[in-house]
Amino acid sequence: MSQIISVNVSQSYNISISYNDLSSLVDFLKNSNFVKKLFIISDTNVCLLHLQTLLRYIEKTNYSYSIYCFEAGEQSKSKEVLFDIYDFLIENQADRKTPLVAFGGGVVGDVASFAASTFMRGMPLIHVPTTVVSQTDSSIGGKTAINHTKGKNLIGTFYQPNAVFIDTKFLDTLSDEEFFNAFSEIIKYGVIMDRQLFSFLETHIEDVLKRDAKTISDIIYDCAKDKSLIVQKDEKEASLRAILNFGHTLAHAIEAFFEYKKYTHPQAVSIGEVFAAKLSINLGLIGENTFIRIKNLLEKFNLPTKIDNIDPDELIKIMQHDKKTKGGILEFILTKDIGEAIIANDIEYSLLIKTIRELQ
Ligand code: NAD
Repeated sequence: MSQIISVNVSQSYNISISYNDLSSLVDFLKNSNFVKKLFIISDTNVCLLHLQTLLRYIEKTNYSYSIYCFEAGEQSKSKEVLFDIYDFLIENQADRKTPLVAFGGGVVGDVASFAASTFMRGMPLIHVPTTVVSQTDSSIGGKTAINHTKGKNLIGTFYQPNAVFIDTKFLDTLSDEEFFNAFSEIIKYGVIMDRQLFSFLETHIEDVLKRDAKTISDIIYDCAKDKSLIVQKDEKEASLRAILNFGHTLAHAIEAFFEYKKYTHPQAVSIGEVFAAKLSINLGLIGENTFIRIKNLLEKFNLPTKIDNIDPDELIKIMQHDKKTKGGILEFILTKDIGEAIIANDIEYSLLIKTIRELQ
């Protein structure tokens, strides 16, 4: 049995969420008008762990398939891997009616969907995400990307998939670190728009930490729903979608300061979220109690909540040069209450310095 979320955007599609069951993918393929030939793009880890599972389902359809697995890791969001994918598609006679399946985490999703959006000006795209990040975030919303040596995600398109199939059983093989780090982004949904999810995490923390299957599936469903609500209202990040950047302004600066070596992205986001919450206190938007709830929940997942001893002026300078910063004016996503976000871009320099210092 799967749960379905409909995403109503320029090309509407369904997200199907299940546990240990991809039969909805089988039904979808059988009922589609695609040329009956699938192009599966994945990475070495996912191929090793889960390709056989995916193929068991695909073999229930009358599709033939070709598989391309690239080396796992962020470095594969590159023009080299992208062009290897184009070569693979050309050699195997892909065309505008043959679907591409992005099977893996956010890296696979981003590069494979960029390839799908550009190959012959667009081929059908199906996401089968296998990490917490990809199931709750990157497979939904149509952002595709590769990295440039000058910056992450600098080259990309908006391209909606034809369908997303989330099977939360795939998550069982993620390490605890990979799995729980991603909760900084899950807590983000709670803080910016989903008070119920936030309380659920607080009250079910033991089941979450045990990685109880039903609890995790419920959480993934809530996040997928939250993300789709946002992208429905703002498909191309004109305004509202910016609230998904809660915690990210400082996170990007911290990641850049440590040259992407000290913290993973979700860990840096955790520090950024505590900073955004502290800034919200200092602006009188929330009380100390709300701040403590956010910080405590992040700490339950062993996520960092202190800012390193970095010169605050330097951190602010890095933030001002971030690619998401428009004209040097810093924009922060703040919270008025658990479940409510606001966008602020006129915060006094001295308050930023004070807030950073308070968390060091
Ligand atoms: P990832 O794809 O690198 O996956 C993390 C690691 O887990 C990899 O080594 C991968 O091989 C492995 N893996 C994948 N599935 C597994 C499984 N089921 N069991 C065991 N190991 C598994 O990273 P990620 O965290 O999934 O995604 C991060 C990427 O997503 C970044 O490049 C980021 O920019 C991008 N992203 C994109 C969007 C978007 O809207 N397009 C949103 C958020 C993040």
